[in-house]
Amino acid sequence: MVQDSFIIRCDRCGAKNRIPKSRAGERAVCGKCRTPLHFKAEYPQYAIAVGDNSFDAEVIRFPGPVLVLFWATWCTHCRTLLPIVDELASQFSGMVKFVKVDLDRSQGLAAKYQVQSVPTMLTFKNGRLFNRLLGALPKDQIIHHLRAML
Ligand SMILES: [Zn+2]
Repeated sequence: MVQDSFIIRCDRCGAKNRIPKSRAGERAVCGKCRTPLHFKAEYPQYAIAVGDNSFDAEVIRFPGPVLVLFWATWCTHCRTLLPIVDELASQFSGMVKFVKVDLDRSQGLAAKYQVQSVPTMLTFKNGRLFNRLLGALPKDQIIHHLRAML
């Protein structure tokens, strides 16, 4: 079942605020006390590990932009990219969600999205594949792509 909105609880007064999916990633304030809402639980400040079984729940059904990094333990460029992606997760918290997929443990996803080399970054918006970024791009180029999704 696809939800067209999601709930964020206000840090200050505890009121539940319903945010339309189309507004995910925008700045929002609590309807009751006007405190800016934080997207902490929805947007972790690091790339979370996702696999074949959790991909749909974490990425496809997520009501906002997601960057998915396909990586592998034996991949040198991935080792450079992983800390950058974690940094970006913190920088873009509340706007873009970041997940990482270990290629060797998630052959199903690799096949489904035709990921033939690592690192590969796929971006998703409202559950749909948005862009495919190949290789270890410099940080400012990744930022450029992330902004294009907001
Ligand atoms: Zn409030």
